[in-house]
Amino acid sequence: MNREFDYLRGNLEIIMSKIERAALKSGRKADDIQIIAVTKTVEPEKISAIIDEGITELGENRVQELVKKYDIIDKKCNWHHIGHLQTNKVKYIVDKVKLIHSVDRLSLALEIQKRAEKINRIVDVLIQVNVSKEESKFGVYEEELFELLEKVNKLGNIRVRGLMTMAPYDENPENVRHVFAKLRDLSIDIQSKTLDNVSMEFLSMGMSNDFEVAIEEGSNMVRIGSALFGERV
Ligand SMILES: *Cc1c(COP(=O)(O)O)cnc(C)c1O
Repeated sequence: MNREFDYLRGNLEIIMSKIERAALKSGRKADDIQIIAVTKTVEPEKISAIIDEGITELGENRVQELVKKYDIIDKKCNWHHIGHLQTNKVKYIVDKVKLIHSVDRLSLALEIQKRAEKINRIVDVLIQVNVSKEESKFGVYEEELFELLEKVNKLGNIRVRGLMTMAPYDENPENVRHVFAKLRDLSIDIQSKTLDNVSMEFLSMGMSNDFEVAIEEGSNMVRIGSALFGERV
C-alpha cells in the first residue's frame, strides 16, 4: 500500500461529515448525495488511492485528460465529463462517460445524438445553466433553457437527467446561495412540464468552496477537487 496518499482518507472523512450535516439540514441523508471526485491535474496513483477509499465517480473537464486516465485507471469507476465540451471532441468520450454535465447548446446535443446513435447507446446528460450570467462561464441562460430542453427532448439517444451550474467564486458561499436556489427552482419548474426524455433526478452543483450551501439548497451531486486532493499545482 502506498502510504504517500494516506491524507486522502482524512480529507474524505471531513468532506463526508460536512455532507452529512448539510444533507440533514435539507431533510436528506448523506447517501442521497453523490461525490464526483474531480481529478483534473491529479496523477493516476492518487486517483487509484481515492478509489480504494470508496469513491466510484470521477470527473474531468478536459477530453484529453479523461481519455488518457480512462485507459490508465483499471479500477472500477465511472467517468463524468464536467467542463465545457467542444463539439468536435464528443466522439472521443461518448462511449466512455456515464454522464455529461455540461450540455449548453443545441449544436452540442445534436453531435452527442449523432455519435450516440452510431454506437447504439443512450447517453445521459445534464443541462448546464449559467444562472449568474457571468461572461466567463458557460451554460444556457435560464430564459433559453426550456426551448433547449424541448429540442433535446426530441433526440432519441439522449436522456436529460437534470441540471448543472457553477456559482461565481466567492469567499463567503452564503453570497451565492441564491444561485443554487435558482437552479433548484428551475428544476422544479421543468418537472411540472411533460417532456418524455427529460427527468430532473440530478442537481449537479457545489464545489470545494461551496458544496455545503449547494446541498442545503438541494444539490445531490457535488463536484469536489481541491478539498479532496489538495490545491492544484
Ligand atoms: C475544477 C472543477 C470543479 C472542482 O473544483 P474545486 O474547487 O477544486 O472543488 C468542479 N466543477 C468543474 C466544472 C470544474 O472544472
